Amino acid sequence: MAVQPHFLLITYPAQGHINPTLQFAKGLTRIGVLVTLVTSLSAGRRMSKTLFPDGLSFVTFSDGYDDGLKAEDDRDHFMSELKRRGSQTLNELIVDSAKEGKPVTCLVYTMLLHWAAEVARAQHLPAALLWTQPATVFDIYYYYFNGYGDIFNNCKDTSYAIELPGLPPFASRDLPSFVLPSNTYTFALQLFQEQLEQLSQETNPKVLVNSFDALELVAMNAIEKLNLVGIGPLIPSAFLDGKDPLDKSFGGDLFQGSEDYTEWLNSKTKSSVVYVSFGSILVLPKRQIKEIARGLVDSGLPFLWVIRDEQNKNEVKEEEDACREAILERQGMIVPWCSQVDVLSHPSIGCFVTHCGWNSTMESLVSEVPVVAFPHWTDQGTNAKLIADVWKTGVRVVANEEGIVEGDEIKRCLDLVMAPGKTGEDIRKNAKKWKDLARDAVREGGSSDKNLKALVQEVGEGCF
Ligand code: UDP
Repeated sequence: MAVQPHFLLITYPAQGHINPTLQFAKGLTRIGVLVTLVTSLSAGRRMSKTLFPDGLSFVTFSDGYDDGLKAEDDRDHFMSELKRRGSQTLNELIVDSAKEGKPVTCLVYTMLLHWAAEVARAQHLPAALLWTQPATVFDIYYYYFNGYGDIFNNCKDTSYAIELPGLPPFASRDLPSFVLPSNTYTFALQLFQEQLEQLSQETNPKVLVNSFDALELVAMNAIEKLNLVGIGPLIPSAFLDGKDPLDKSFGGDLFQGSEDYTEWLNSKTKSSVVYVSFGSILVLPKRQIKEIARGLVDSGLPFLWVIRDEQNKNEVKEEEDACREAILERQGMIVPWCSQVDVLSHPSIGCFVTHCGWNSTMESLVSEVPVVAFPHWTDQGTNAKLIADVWKTGVRVVANEEGIVEGDEIKRCLDLVMAPGKTGEDIRKNAKKWKDLARDAVREGGSSDKNLKALVQEVGEGCF
């Protein structure tokens, strides 16, 4: 009798990695695959497991930072402990699963955890990388380390256009911040280099991308030596393909949310509300927060704004202009965290002011919500470029010389996207087109659906 496929998944303990991994896990269980999902104890403690489907086992391990990584902690030590203890956990799970008659048949790991592939190799298991950024960004890193490094160093000039095979021309602001000469996060660039070196050792390297063919076909096929496969968008089913109408949440929030915004959203008219969020990591400077408040107030539009950090919230409240504060209170709502996919699919949302994290980008795409792209670092500049210039589902803010986006600029972008003019209409038309294509990709027989099933079949047949 054939062995039931059993995928062992390990995710880096950050919200932007946990969310797509959980959706990938759920997608696998829907097609009869057993899944064991592994992450660190600090993340696991904060996740709600009630929404996990049958067939999904959840395992946590202590990485030595059980209260979570703090800004002052030694990142190198954290990464090496994550590797040491994570590898040990994976090894034990592989051995135990075999003893229990449910042998692991494939190991999938998210970015930054490439050491997991060494565990797989030692245990003679196939492994795949789950890439939680666009294929375009993967390609840029690949080119950086494979023959194109020098042209990136010329990117000091902001008007310089960089041409890479199969990709649109990029200005420096469109490139991942880690490949720019100004990068100070050398450890991050090194991790991407190690990741690529690790993949080059595989006989059949497989990269599963949270994207889909229609969105990034050329980027997906740009690198002959590597097999990039679109299996996204990895979004809860209820907001995407309806295969599982009860699947309405990622089910793994690391932050405490509030629920009271739903009633407020219900009270607003269709497509009237601006949703503002900068993801799970970014902390904006005080001046930037104030400029956003000014832009929102001056736009006159109702808004729902996620401000995770208590300090940031106080900064909005401390705004000298008491009158402005009063308007802010009446016009909008500030919450510490929300169920973002739920919010984006609410009919009253008309636009998303986003830092362009890849998950947020995909979530806006499947929800048909036009975007004001407000990128900061890592892959966000590239994602903003794709949004504004390639898919044309939004506009991108322009920062001043000090790197601050002023209130007037935010208002200008909101006017463009929300007002009845041609720009807004074109953006809304494009948003509808991409939403339909995203849904087609995951539907039975769609490109991502086929790719996922082919992956499971290949594993079953021992093809990689
Ligand atoms: N998110 C959420 N509620 C919030 C803010 C963010 O559920 O109030 C989720 C969002 O839906 C996305 C993830 O957190 O899935 C953030 O990932 P992304 O890649 O957009 O940005 P990152 O946090 O990694 O910078």
